[in-house]
Amino acid sequence: MKLKKCPECKKYTLKEKCPKCSSKTKEAHYKFLRIKSLSK
Ligand SMILES: [Zn+2]
Repeated sequence: MKLKKCPECKKYTLKEKCPKCSSKTKEAHYKFLRIKSLSK
């Protein structure tokens, strides 16, 4: 399984969709700080 992250809730999940807000999650990487700046 791949670790995913919801860009809205900023929470990690294993699902394709966030269980909270139902938005599509993105793949989580080790350098999550960089992703954070890219997703803005
Ligand atoms: Zn969410």
